[in-house]
Amino acid sequence: MTEYIDPNTPLVQLNTKQLAQLGSQMLTQEKWDRRFLDIARQVSTWSKDPSTQVGAVLVDRMRQVVGTGFNGFPRGVDDHVDRYLDRPTKYAMVVHAELNAILQAGHRARGGTIYVYPSFGPPSLCTGCAKAVIQSGVVRSVGFEPVEGDERAERWADELAMANIMCQESGITVDLLAEDAEPTLADKLVTLRQEWGRSDMSNDELANRVAALALGEEYDDSIQYEL
Ligand SMILES: [Zn+2]
Repeated sequence: MTEYIDPNTPLVQLNTKQLAQLGSQMLTQEKWDRRFLDIARQVSTWSKDPSTQVGAVLVDRMRQVVGTGFNGFPRGVDDHVDRYLDRPTKYAMVVHAELNAILQAGHRARGGTIYVYPSFGPPSLCTGCAKAVIQSGVVRSVGFEPVEGDERAERWADELAMANIMCQESGITVDLLAEDAEPTLADKLVTLRQEWGRSDMSNDELANRVAALALGEEYDDSIQYEL
């Protein structure tokens, strides 16, 4: 059985085997979640809404992106800024980021995960988008925890509470991650790989290099370092 290594463990406390195991854990869910939330953040900047820009990324079970979306008016509808500034008009015309991503994905949404940035939740979905998520077969919703004191989180509180009830009853997994979490050991290892100039470095070599580093020795690839 493989041992799970807590990513916050100081590097020097791990033996070479554990370091190698940690390297393989870099492909764990949270790593991918943060990658897709980064894309959602990028996509959010494409929205023309001057007050709230939201981005969504939909991935299938194979972690392939099958849809992206941002909040905006339907294709061809005049999206002059004046319309965004008039709330009743905006609310009537806008298509939310999540729904755009789901429409783009079509049947490939089934079984997928939707990433939304920013988040005011849990969940990172309004009631309308929660309905679309449920009916399209998406099974998981992921976002960052809302920024403390964000007035949009307060404005949306009742709406999201309702969306949350629907997600719970229909079995949608709702996850929120801390946006500015300390870099995990996995992150640090990625940085080390990059600093050493090779992203394709094997876990064994990485572990051996870290061990040499921890022992304060000049790395030599013919030596197996033991901590
Ligand atoms: Zn929505």
